[in-house]
Amino acid sequence: MSCNSNLSRWGIARNMALVGYISQIIMIETGLTYKQIRRLYKELKDEGLTIFRKSHKVRGGATIIHSHTSKIEASLLMQLYFNITGKAALRSININALHSAYKLYSAVRSETLGMQRARWQMLDITDAWCLAQELRSGEAMIERCPSCKCNYFTSVNQRTSVNCPFCLSLPQASSTKKEATSTTV
Ligand SMILES: [Zn+2]
Repeated sequence: MSCNSNLSRWGIARNMALVGYISQIIMIETGLTYKQIRRLYKELKDEGLTIFRKSHKVRGGATIIHSHTSKIEASLLMQLYFNITGKAALRSININALHSAYKLYSAVRSETLGMQRARWQMLDITDAWCLAQELRSGEAMIERCPSCKCNYFTSVNQRTSVNCPFCLSLPQASSTKKEATSTTV
């Protein structure tokens, strides 16, 4: 491993830590060891930088998508991500695109009055990565509602119904993963 790539890995890890990713994901994305991540956290702390982390572990769609509102949260965030990456999201996780989508998601939420209520639970960046991972692995897809034409995120692991979270229509009976994702590009 050259000095340059070590430096860039360190830089990526540093940014990911500041955005709020948990160490497990930083290790997966950068290849750094747990010991190196501990050193990174200490370095950030010594610089007086604070790290906010809501999640403490990787969660699956079953835990993240447990209600009607959480399905809308996931749909909003992942649709923005998919719009930025296109079909590349089905092959690998794009950390930069995920970060951009997360910023847009935060902005939309803060402008939407109804989403300030307690039953709306904002997803964090670790959740975003977990959902992107499901999209990449084919466990989840972006479906287009035949009725209201909105796109929404749907995971094989979710605990809610498969209906469109916006208008509650059923998904297209004939849709397959491939067709559903290609309609959004
Ligand atoms: Zn709909």
